[in-house]
Amino acid sequence: MASAILQNFLNDLHLKYKSMHEGVLANYIPELAKANPDWFGICIVTVDGQVYEIGDCEQLFTLQSISKAFIYGMALEDHGRDYVLKRVGVEPTGDAFNSIIKLDEYSKRPYNPMVNAGAIATTSLIKGVGPTERLNRMLDMFGRYVGHNLFIDMSVFMSERTTGHRNRAMAHLMLNFGMIDAKIDEALDLYFQQCSLMVNCRDLAVMAATLANNGMNPITQERAVDSRYIRDILTVMYTCGMYDFAGEWAYKVGLPAKSGVSGGLIVVVPQQMGIAIFSPPLDSHGSSVRGIKVSEELSEQFGLHLFDLQTDRSRLLDTLCNKLAT
Ligand code: GLN
Repeated sequence: MASAILQNFLNDLHLKYKSMHEGVLANYIPELAKANPDWFGICIVTVDGQVYEIGDCEQLFTLQSISKAFIYGMALEDHGRDYVLKRVGVEPTGDAFNSIIKLDEYSKRPYNPMVNAGAIATTSLIKGVGPTERLNRMLDMFGRYVGHNLFIDMSVFMSERTTGHRNRAMAHLMLNFGMIDAKIDEALDLYFQQCSLMVNCRDLAVMAATLANNGMNPITQERAVDSRYIRDILTVMYTCGMYDFAGEWAYKVGLPAKSGVSGGLIVVVPQQMGIAIFSPPLDSHGSSVRGIKVSEELSEQFGLHLFDLQTDRSRLLDTLCNKLAT
């Protein structure tokens, strides 16, 4: 009963926003401009493994910046909290995701791991003997989150690699400040590879649900990340995951989230569910327009905002379905 109500609600949301045609495709990475602006999927995966989906949930697209949250978890596992914090801060920038590096004047660190500069620094921390081992470790990590092997879209990778001059400039500046080591081409390649991983909307929802489930994939029951780092990942997603829209997002939606320029958006409802939306047209901050609308409605309707203290979180799904049924 509850599941049918939730599914119907998602179907209605999908129908409502399908006809909304705001936003523009990312074009600074030439391959991304080839996306179909009508692609639109919504998927929810609960921590007990139920899947609700509507629309284009099997369409493949590249992970882009959503990868940053997961790579941050991997860097924390590789080095521990104290070391990573010395290299990358946890302070929102209030700037665009690709703003040319703004370093904390005192510590010389990039502000946070969700903007490009911080993400490149985080990626440079991934351990491994040589680029192949680092790539394989990264693929294994993402594989645990989604529950199957992931592959790189080579044309997007090459497109980013040949046009990513801004990212390259940031890496050089951080090298100049001694914040990353000399192998910047390897770090940039790994960064472009993580951004070019192919996923679908359902994969994203499983990844978000894994974070919601304290690091354990709710479908495969495999641990994807050490549970002690979940709070670090969710905190930076909450404060920095939506870039220079993060404050308004926290105010309106009130949940940890991460967007990417190919149109994916993940939202984590801790201990309850992962939500993913895929729709390529973006707003001026580089986040999916439909993704934001759908998230705002879900949060509002179901009282998902973390500080909505009237919500009974122990029975969230039942409560929200009862609410919808009345
Ligand atoms: N690969 C993109 C870049 O480096 C990722 C940006 C994003 O998704 N916001 O610019």
